[in-house]
Amino acid sequence: MQGGWDVLDGAAAGLVRKGQFLGMAAAATAIVIPISTPGYLHALFQLLEAPMVNPDSSDPQAKMRWDPARAKQAMGEFGLVLGMLEETNFLDAPHMDDAWVPAVTAGVRFIYYHELGHVVHAQVQQLEMPCWLEKSELEDPHLPFEMVADQFGLSMLLLEFRRHRHLMIPAMVGVVIAMGLTAMQAYVGPDGPARMHPIRRMNRLFDWAKKAATLGQCTDEAIIVATHFWNSLYSYFAAMPEASLPSPLFSLLRQTSQRPRSDWTMASGHMLQWCAYGNRRRVLTALRSIRDQALARADDERARGVLEVIDFVVKDLRDIDDALGLSTALE
Ligand SMILES: [Zn+2]
Repeated sequence: MQGGWDVLDGAAAGLVRKGQFLGMAAAATAIVIPISTPGYLHALFQLLEAPMVNPDSSDPQAKMRWDPARAKQAMGEFGLVLGMLEETNFLDAPHMDDAWVPAVTAGVRFIYYHELGHVVHAQVQQLEMPCWLEKSELEDPHLPFEMVADQFGLSMLLLEFRRHRHLMIPAMVGVVIAMGLTAMQAYVGPDGPARMHPIRRMNRLFDWAKKAATLGQCTDEAIIVATHFWNSLYSYFAAMPEASLPSPLFSLLRQTSQRPRSDWTMASGHMLQWCAYGNRRRVLTALRSIRDQALARADDERARGVLEVIDFVVKDLRDIDDALGLSTALE
């Protein structure tokens, strides 16, 4: 791809012009959604759905039950996904075709319409910002634009689904998992007010959905289910370890070192995949940090194993090192 590995850094979706990732471009030539997005949305959907089990009742009106043991397991897996997002911005999603459940389809469409909202708004930016934006929102350099694009995205999605009322629940859950992905990216990103943006944006989206429901364009039931998913997500965030998230790269190197040498190319394959489809700089920074920590404890057998695997991976990938920058990152 012209422009190198990092064109789509950190993008759940973006507008691309001349190979540069631009959050808002008046003359954007393409809206790009990385291939990893449906996989992420599906993973998040499954994790949020996991604790909900069928009621122990034959009554068709009986509510789904929340299983605490399944919730605990899902929260552990959520930590692994967050760790993966933090370190690589990539998720292994081997069964991509299975990812397209209705909520994921709706989530991807919402992301697409949201980006389209940026394009539309950029075309009419000589107009004033809408009057529903509060003063504190207008003071932020990004939030008003995101909210305007969100409003456009939700309107388009509800318009599209208005004749499919039985799909209104997955449509609203799709919006929640799309915003959930944004919240996860904000969580692993730098500290600051932007961490709160997904909450403020989702609250707005719920307000608009409620308004749409009074006009018959959305259903109360869909809003209730979507709210439950959103609240579950924040209960997961609250359960995350404060110190640090699990490191997928360290697990890969550590587990590979315990396997026969003939299997070690698997580690090179993963490294290559994470660099190509995820955030190469983050992967290389994490690799360097793991290498430095292992060097500091080189009398430890496990640390030596990790160093040997790193050495192997660098040699195994040397033919593409110019593009990958592995040895430069470790200098
Ligand atoms: Zn946006």
